[in-house]
Order: sequence, then structure tokens, then C-alpha cells
Amino acid sequence: MTILTSAILAKAGFLHAFPTRDTVDATLLAALTSPTVIQVKQVHGARAVLATEAAGQEGDALVSRAGDGAVGVRVADCVPVLVADPASGAVAAIHAGWRGVVGGVLGAGVKLLGGRDLVAAIGPCIGACCFEVGRDVAERIGFIAREDGEKAHVDLRAAVRSQLRALGLADGSIEDVAGCTRHEGERFHSFRRDGANSGRMLAAIVPRGRGR
Ligand SMILES: [Zn+2]
Repeated sequence: MTILTSAILAKAGFLHAFPTRDTVDATLLAALTSPTVIQVKQVHGARAVLATEAAGQEGDALVSRAGDGAVGVRVADCVPVLVADPASGAVAAIHAGWRGVVGGVLGAGVKLLGGRDLVAAIGPCIGACCFEVGRDVAERIGFIAREDGEKAHVDLRAAVRSQLRALGLADGSIEDVAGCTRHEGERFHSFRRDGANSGRMLAAIVPRGRGR
């Protein structure tokens, strides 16, 4: 099984996927039953874009409404977050690196998505075990798991969950799909481990329903 999934998203009826390093495009598209996955140029910012207006755009959150196409974000250490509105069928795919988390990309994505009683899955990303940054960066993010002189280990996953909670999601409606990209080299790509030649994994989700 090369694709990881969220029980919460599946139960709400949303096709989605957190690929691993072995997932080929054909397997991903088959899991999504989609001919393609709409993406934008990711820039570690905090801009949310509608799937219908994505062509040629830069952004780090993509929202797709019922009847529109699958959306996805490419990650290798950054946090992939898939959010869905069970009432409307709309979804968001969010690329949340530390700059995006600090800059508010989760808020931008959730606000463009709209709706209440949202459900979300936080995918495999660099864990607090491996995410070592300078003290200045750590203090900007918060969620310091361990301090080590001028360095600190930060729990990005916890930061994402906290922001989703602040945006109104119930704690029980947010699922962690486990995995540390940095030290689980057999399962995941990692930018920190493999450098600029690292592969990326395309976390993706499909809106539900035919639209209104
Ligand atoms: Zn780790």
C-alpha cells in the first residue's frame, strides 16, 4: 500500500490520498478517480486560490468546490493539510511549511473554503524528532519540543493542529496521518535529507458531489 489515507476524510466520503515515495502517478490518479490534479506554483506564502482560477497562479492553498476537479500540493517535509466541508462537498489542499504556518496559509485556505463543521487530515511531514531550526525561527513558530543551545526542535504538526482549532475545527475532526518524512527514508521523500534533488509527494483531494 503506497498511499496513506485519513479515516475521517474517507468516512465523510472524500476521495483523497497522501502518497509515499513509491506512489506512481497512475496509482494516485486511480485512487482519486481523476484524470488530473489541479496545482499551483507553491511559493511558501499564504495565498489561497480557487481551482477554477488556478492556471498560471502562485499560491499555497487550493480550494475546489463541488463539481470541480481534484486539487493537490507537493511536499517533501512541509505539512500537507487536506480539509473538507461535508455539507457543501468543497475541499482545500494546503501546503504548510513553517513560513506558511507563520504567514497564515491555513487561515487563508479555510476562509476561502468556507463552511462549518469542517474535517481535516494532517499528512506525513518532518516531525519534531527531526525539525531542528535556529532559535529565532523556533520562536516565530512556537511549539518548541526541545531546546539545544542555539537550536530548537519544533513540532510543526502541533502548530498546524493548533491553528486549525483556532479556525473553528473541533479537535476530534482533525486527524493526524502519521509519519516523519525526514527519518523514514524508505517511505517518504525529504528535502532536508535528500536536498534539491529530492522528489515530492502530491497530497490530493477531490470535492464531493455535482455542485449546485
Ligand atoms: Zn523524524
